Amino acid sequence: MGLQIGKHAGFCFGVRRAVCKAFDCAQKQLPCVTLGPLIHNPQEVERLKDAGIHSVNTLEEVAAGQTVIIRSHGVTPQVYAQCEQMGIPVIDATCPHVAHIHQLVNSYSESGDAVIIVGAADHPEVIGIAGWAKGPVFILHDGRAAEEARLPGKALVVAQTTIRGDRFDEVLAVLRQKVGELTVRKTICAATSQRQEEAERLSREADVMIVVGGKNSSNTQKLFETCALRCARSILVETPEDVPEGVAGRDDRIAITAGASTPQWLLEQVREKVEENIR
Ligand code: SF4
Repeated sequence: MGLQIGKHAGFCFGVRRAVCKAFDCAQKQLPCVTLGPLIHNPQEVERLKDAGIHSVNTLEEVAAGQTVIIRSHGVTPQVYAQCEQMGIPVIDATCPHVAHIHQLVNSYSESGDAVIIVGAADHPEVIGIAGWAKGPVFILHDGRAAEEARLPGKALVVAQTTIRGDRFDEVLAVLRQKVGELTVRKTICAATSQRQEEAERLSREADVMIVVGGKNSSNTQKLFETCALRCARSILVETPEDVPEGVAGRDDRIAITAGASTPQWLLEQVREKVEENIR
């Protein structure tokens, strides 16, 4: 039997960093809350709660003496200003890739020029990025939205870090026709595509492909579909208990990947269970 775990399986760098910062606070017994859920994984949220860290939706919910952890998605500058005004200490776990986009947007729009963000208007990361612009902001989800928008003659275009490259290119093609002076920064993060490409490769080579992640998580679902297309014996598990008896034979090549919000410890537990359940 050969068992391989994908190098890019599970948490991306930014989420891992934010979770580490949170547990570090818990270890130092610093009373902390996160502004919005740090991660969309019920088991990890439970572990955070057990460590004394829960999430709040607004700064008004922060109790006296508590520190706020800013999650990897980042926030607008107004949130930092409000924390300062309210005397709330901040631990900033904004992903450095996202913080870089904040700086790009902020300095480009210094003299009031427009910024275009390719992404979803209701995504926290996009809301954060938009807040750093000093001029008008246009948020475009796809090529059609770009066609319909009344756009300025000069603009910077950036991307939500997790959108697909072809979606950005589709919008860009329209922008090139409509915006005379366009500065392009394709700020898509490689983490998602690396995980996806690795899963494609592993599932092509494996006899049994195991995808670990939340059954309601769209990114896990997509990862599973990718694997199922290439490996007929692909299974999706949320916890070690979901690993079926006799999941694979002794001679099978087994590979494991995991969605973006799956912690390493859960991945390890699944691996142990797979080894136990080999027939
Ligand atoms: S920018 Fe990339 S590394 Fe950072 S949080 Fe987003 S997906 Fe993760």
